[in-house]
Amino acid sequence: MFACIGYATESADQPLGPFSFERRDVGPTDVRIEISYCGVCHSDLHTARNEWKNTVYPCLPGHEIVGKVVEVGGEVTKFKLGDLAGVGCMVESCRTCASCQEGLEQYCENGFVGTYNGVEKQTGKVTFGGYSKEIVVDEAFVLRLPENLDLAAVAPLLCAGITTYSPLRHWKVGPGQKVGIVGLGGLGHMGVKLAHAMGAHVVLFTTSPNKVDDAKKLGADEVVISKDPDQMGAHAGSFDFILDCVAAQHDINEYLGLLKRDATLCQVGAPEDPLAVAVFSLIFKRRNFAGSLIGGIAETQEMLDFCGEHGITSEIEIIPIADIETAYSRMLKSDVKYRFVIDMATLKAAA
Ligand code: NAP
Ligand code: ZN
Ligand code: ZN
Repeated sequence: MFACIGYATESADQPLGPFSFERRDVGPTDVRIEISYCGVCHSDLHTARNEWKNTVYPCLPGHEIVGKVVEVGGEVTKFKLGDLAGVGCMVESCRTCASCQEGLEQYCENGFVGTYNGVEKQTGKVTFGGYSKEIVVDEAFVLRLPENLDLAAVAPLLCAGITTYSPLRHWKVGPGQKVGIVGLGGLGHMGVKLAHAMGAHVVLFTTSPNKVDDAKKLGADEVVISKDPDQMGAHAGSFDFILDCVAAQHDINEYLGLLKRDATLCQVGAPEDPLAVAVFSLIFKRRNFAGSLIGGIAETQEMLDFCGEHGITSEIEIIPIADIETAYSRMLKSDVKYRFVIDMATLKAAA
């Protein structure tokens, strides 16, 4: 084991603060990464505050990790010292179940190991995430990063990017389709960029009138203020696919009514309480209400390569780690443009 530092919280009602802990030594297939940047996902906040009722404390969040390889195990083939490397939401899975065999490790039938708040296979201890100086991950769960993109702005691709890319691909979004993205936060702004790059006609739904101009710059063809019933009504029954990226309680039936017959509303936003579904809206138009979880490792690599080719990164605001609680409170007010990213060089100073 070796000593590491990070930012963690001891309970749901305590702020995150400096934290010292140990990481496992590098095994034969492991890569040790010195973390340069870590994105701040709303899931970090849900977990730190125990909103999903499954948090193990101390909790050290962060699953949008980018950095440099500083050590590799003897059997590592994908990475060498000095390479850029990324880690997303998973660090391990059973690798043998049907889902793992299909490259869908996020749906591992024996449960994937989360980058934080999971149980580390190698040590049996709770996993600690990317709000830290270094991380050790099996190379099978480490991603290669495009060299042509700004490193800090690549970090959010590891969760926000893949979580929107995967359902857009699964539901075959492309030219000639009208696609809705709900909520212009971390996930939503990546959804707009990616759906636009895939050639769809993109409509962004927002509760924040001050985000309209940004949404258009990011690739939205139209922007709808979701609180305005007239604007919503104008789109009734017209969408091929809608991706809901909202982190809080809201009325999804307003969106179900905007789908064409047989079309799908996919939920990636994960509010803590159940959402009510008006079943007649599904029944009368054979509509689908679905969900999607991040993406597999192969698909995450495909997404990173796609972003490299298309020059796609996240719109970010870089923060020192000591400002993480301020970032969380701004996130709760939808005041994010459009992803906070922690500059991990500030960790030394804070801890
Ligand atoms: P975020 O940056 O905080 O963005 C959420 C956006 O939702 C806000 O910017 C806001 O956009 C909109 N919103 C907030 N409160 C709302 C309300 N009361 N009614 C309607 N809209 C509201 O969060 P994020 O990091 O993108 O994460 C979004 C959700 O996805 C979280 O629940 C997160 O846990 C979940 N998530 C799921 C997966 C998965 O695999 N399924 C992966 C990562 C994250 P506007 O200002 O434009 O309205
Ligand atoms: Zn996330
Ligand atoms: Zn599995």
